[in-house]
Amino acid sequence: MRLCKVSEIRPFSSVVVEGYVSKPPRVITGGHVVLKLSDETGEVDCAAYEPTGRFREVVKSFIVGDRVSVYGGLRKAPPLHPLTVNLEKVEVLGLAKKVDLINPPCPRCGKRMSSMGFNKGFRCERCGYRDAKLGKVALEVPRNIKRGLYIPPPRAHRHLTKPLTRYGLEKRLRTGFSEEILPDFWGLARGFQKPTITRVA
Ligand SMILES: [Zn+2]
Repeated sequence: MRLCKVSEIRPFSSVVVEGYVSKPPRVITGGHVVLKLSDETGEVDCAAYEPTGRFREVVKSFIVGDRVSVYGGLRKAPPLHPLTVNLEKVEVLGLAKKVDLINPPCPRCGKRMSSMGFNKGFRCERCGYRDAKLGKVALEVPRNIKRGLYIPPPRAHRHLTKPLTRYGLEKRLRTGFSEEILPDFWGLARGFQKPTITRVA
């Protein structure tokens, strides 16, 4: 695998690309999950295929702004579809803040207020307080993933572009749940704490 920029990605190669999620993941026909990854040189599709099981849930939980390194292989460039990195694993380098907009609490009694209509303010159903100028408030929602390396379950590997048996030059390490780790992996994660490794069964 080769660390490269999005603009350097070529068909029939295995790549490691560091970037951020620029379009949220979506589930396509067949249960595959596709998202867009960007760096300063461009944007590329990345796909977690159905046989990767719960690995897809990890990919599905990414939001725009998450910083990730993706590891994967590319097949030939399809004539009508964009070039796609077939995800073999992902490392979460940094998580964006996930924020939900919710109705504000009542300034008088503290109960969550009800909307009086789009841009018409809020009303408290407990104490009757109304305010046409109140807007929704941001609530930070906890993320259900953390920084670290996520690897599909072993049964998925035979479906992926590059079976494990072809990782000839890669060292096999056994630390906790980790399986194979690129020799230069920790080098790629420079500046970050040693991440946790999660095998999603
Ligand atoms: Zn109230």
